[in-house]
Amino acid sequence: MVSKLQASEPWQDPEAQPFVRIEGVTKTFGSVYAVDAVTLHIYQGELFSLLGSSGCGKTTLLRMLAGFEKPTSGRIYIDGLDVTDMPPYERPVNMMFQSYALFPHLSVASNIAFGLRQQRMPKGEINDRVQELLELVRLGNYGKRKPDQLSGGQRQRVALARALAKKPKLLLLDEPLGALDKKLREHTQFELVGIQERLGTTFVMVTHDQEEALTMSTRLAVMHEGRVSQIGTPQHVYEQPNCRFVADFLGAANLLPGRVVGARDEGIEVAIEGLDEPLIAGDGTAGVEPGMEVTVAIRPEKMLLGDKGENKLRGVVQDIAYLGDISIYHLRLPSGRVIQAQVTNRVRGGGAHPVWDDEVTVSWNVDSATVLSS
Ligand code: ATP
Repeated sequence: MVSKLQASEPWQDPEAQPFVRIEGVTKTFGSVYAVDAVTLHIYQGELFSLLGSSGCGKTTLLRMLAGFEKPTSGRIYIDGLDVTDMPPYERPVNMMFQSYALFPHLSVASNIAFGLRQQRMPKGEINDRVQELLELVRLGNYGKRKPDQLSGGQRQRVALARALAKKPKLLLLDEPLGALDKKLREHTQFELVGIQERLGTTFVMVTHDQEEALTMSTRLAVMHEGRVSQIGTPQHVYEQPNCRFVADFLGAANLLPGRVVGARDEGIEVAIEGLDEPLIAGDGTAGVEPGMEVTVAIRPEKMLLGDKGENKLRGVVQDIAYLGDISIYHLRLPSGRVIQAQVTNRVRGGGAHPVWDDEVTVSWNVDSATVLSS
C-alpha cells in the first residue's frame, strides 16, 4: 500500500519510477558547457522548477526535453521511452513559451483549437475540448475575442489552454509568468498551481525568480554554470542549502566564514574571525571535521532581536529598510562585518524597535544555523 506521504512525495519512495529521467546529460555549444553532466529525475504530477540566473543552462535543458536541442551526451527518458533522438512532434510533450505567441488574427477559441484542427480531430470534439479548456482557465465567455482584446493575464491563460489542448503528458513552461506585472504574477502563480493540480499533468518550469520557484514547485533544481547545485522541495533547499551558492541565491543569508573548533551534543562549534565566542551550528553537520574551513549560514528571519536564542551577537544598527510588513536591520559587528536581521512589524508606527546607532543583541537557535562546507 502506498502511504499518503509516498503518494504526495513520490521522490521519497524508492519503488516509484520517475516520469522524466535526465541521465548524465551534457550540451556544449562550441567550448561552452551550457548543461554539464546533469542527472535529474522528475515524477508524475510534479510541478518541477529549473531555477537559476541568466546563462545557467536552464532553458537549454528545457529545450532538450522538448526536443529542440539534442544532448551532446547522456540520455533523456519520458514515461519510460528513450526520447533522446526523437523529434519534438513525436514526444508526448508540449511547450509554452514566454512570449505566448498567440495568432493575433484568430479568436481565442481558434487559437486553442489550432493544434486539434491540424490533428484532424472531428469538429464537435474540438468544440467540446475548447470549451472544457476555456472553463479550466476561467475564460468560458471569452472564446470569440481576439488576443488583443485580452489582458496580459488572460492571454497567458489562453496560451496555457492552447498548450494543454492535445493533453500532453508533460508540459514545459519557459518563464510562464515573465510578461506579467508583480501583482498579477502572484495571483497567476496560484492559479497555475491550481490548474496543474486539477489536471495532474507533469509540469517542468524554467524560472529565474526564486520566490516563484519556492511558491509554486513540488521540487526544484537550483542550477549554476550548467550544473545542478541542489535538488529538493522548496522548504528543503531554502532551509537546508547544501552550498554557499544556494544559500545566497535563494533569499537573503548571512554567511559567516570560519573554522570548526569543536563539537557539542547540539551542534558543532565554529570560530568566526572577529568574534570572541565560537558560534554553534546544528544543521548540515554531517561529515564536518575539526579544523575544516566552513561557512555558517543564518537566514535574517531566524535572527531575533534580543538574547533568547543560544547564539548571540552584538552589533550597532547601521541601516533599517522598512518594507511594510517587515523591516530589515543591517547591524555592524565589531569586526566591521555587516549582518542582516529581520523584524516583523506587528505594531503600527514601529513599536519599540531599535533605531539607527543603537547597540543591540541578536540571537538565534542552534538549529537555525547551517554549516556549509562548499
Ligand atoms: P536565460 O535565463 O538568460 O535564458 P539560461 O539559464 O536559460 O539563461 P541558456 O539559455 O540555457 O541559459 O544558456 C546557457 C549557456 O549556453 C549560455 O552561456 C548561453 O550563452 C549558451 N548558449 C545557449 N544557446 C546557445 C546557442 N544556440 N549557441 C551558442 N551558445 C548558446
